[in-house]
Amino acid sequence: MTVKHPDILVVGGSLAGLTFALASASRGVPVRIVERAERRTLGGDNLNIDLAAIARTVNCDLRVEAKLPVVRAFRDRHLTTWPALYGWLRDRAAEMPGITLEESHAVASVAAEGDRAIVTFADGTSTTADAVIGADGYHSVVRRAVAPDQPLASYAGYLVWRRLVEESALSAPIAWPTEGGLWIMLEQGYRLVAAVLPGRDGSLEIGRRQVTFAWFDGRRDELLRRTGCLDSDRHVVGTLSAHAITAEVREELSALVPRLWPEPWTEAVAYGVRTPGAMRGAPIAEYKPERLAAGPIAIIGDAAHGVSPMTGSGYATAVDDAFVLATMLAERDAAEPPADLLKRYERARLPYTRGLVDHSRRLSADFTHYVASWLG
Ligand SMILES: Cc1cc2nc3c(=O)[nH]c(=O)nc-3n(C[C@H](O)[C@H](O)[C@H](O)COP(=O)(O)OP(=O)(O)OC[C@H]3O[C@@H](n4cnc5c(N)ncnc54)[C@H](O)[C@@H]3O)c2cc1C
Repeated sequence: MTVKHPDILVVGGSLAGLTFALASASRGVPVRIVERAERRTLGGDNLNIDLAAIARTVNCDLRVEAKLPVVRAFRDRHLTTWPALYGWLRDRAAEMPGITLEESHAVASVAAEGDRAIVTFADGTSTTADAVIGADGYHSVVRRAVAPDQPLASYAGYLVWRRLVEESALSAPIAWPTEGGLWIMLEQGYRLVAAVLPGRDGSLEIGRRQVTFAWFDGRRDELLRRTGCLDSDRHVVGTLSAHAITAEVREELSALVPRLWPEPWTEAVAYGVRTPGAMRGAPIAEYKPERLAAGPIAIIGDAAHGVSPMTGSGYATAVDDAFVLATMLAERDAAEPPADLLKRYERARLPYTRGLVDHSRRLSADFTHYVASWLG
C-alpha cells in the first residue's frame, strides 16, 4: 500500500531548506520549496562542515558523488565555501524526484487555519499545505506564526565583515598551506578568522584558491542603526549590503588593516575591504527559541535558532534539524496528524538548540567585554 504523505511546503531554499528537502525526498517524502530569490550567488563565505553528517542526512555522499571541494579544518571537520555547498545542494535538489523548487516566489505571511497552513505570497496569491516548514533565515516570516510574541532575533553587539577574495587578484599567492586550517587572531578589540579555501572551480592549486576572512567588529552600532539594520529595540532586521558600505567605511577599515592583521593575510584583507564588491557587514543575530512548532507550522535552521558564527554551528545545527524532522516524516504513522509530528520534532530539538544559543551568548559576551576593554 502506498503511504499518503502530507503536502509539505518549505519556505526558503538556501542551506537549511535545501538540506531538509533532500533529506525528506531521499526518504520518499516529497516537498515543495518556495524561495524568494533567483539562484543565489551570495550568502556566505567560509563554512566548517561535517561531511559525514551531511551525507547521512541527504543520503548522498559529498565525498564521492560530484565531490564537494573542501580542505581540512581540524579533527574530522572540513572547510568549504558557501557558494560551493549551496551549488552542490541546489544541483542535487533540482534533479531529485520529489522536490519542486520554485524560485522568485516570496512568501508574505503564513497562518494556521484548523489543521491546514495557509501561505500568502507577496504577489497576493495564496495556497494551503498540510505542513509548512520555515527555513527562511534569521529574519523569518514563518517564525512570526510560530512565535508571534517573540518574532525577532536580538543583536549580539557586533558585526562581521566578510568576503571571499580570489588569490589571483593578489600580488602573490598566500603563504598558507591548503591544509592549514583556520587562522584566528584577536587584536586591539577586533577578531579575525581567515583561511585558504578551494578556488571557484574547486582547484587547490596555489594561486587559484580563494581566501576568506571574517573580521569581527564591535564598534559599528551607530552605523547599523543609521542604515536600518537594527530597530529601536536592538533587533536585527537587515544586513549591510555592498552598496550600504560607503567608501568612507572602506577607507577606515583599510587604514586599520596594517595596524591589526599580520602576514600572510594583510593583502587579502586590505583588498577585500578596499575593493567595492562582495563584502558584506552582517550584524550577529541571536535567537533563543521558546517554540519550534505551532500547529501545522515549524521552523528549522537560522529561522529556528540564531547563533554567532563563533560557534561554527549554525549550518551544522540545521543539518541535525533536517535529519530529525525528515526521519520522523518518513517513519510517520499514517494516522498521526502533521501537527503532532511537528510537536515531537520540537520536543526532540528544543533543549539542544536553546543550550546552543546560551553558549553563543557566552561567546558574544566574552567578545563584547574584550571590545569594551579596548574602548576604555
Ligand atoms: C561569517 C559566518 C561564518 C559562519 N561559519 C559557519 C560554520 O563554520 N559552520 C556552520 O555550521 N555555520 C556557520 N555559519 C552559519 C551558517 O552560515 C548559517 O547557519 C546558515 O547559512 C543558515 O542557513 P539557512 O538556510 O537557515 O538561512 P539563510 O541562509 O538565511 O537562508 C534563508 C533563505 O530563505 C529565503 N527567504 C527568506 N525570506 C523569505 C520569504 N519571505 N519567502 C521566500 N523565501 C524567503 C532567503 O532568500 C534565503 O534563501 C556562519 C555564518 C557566518 C555569517
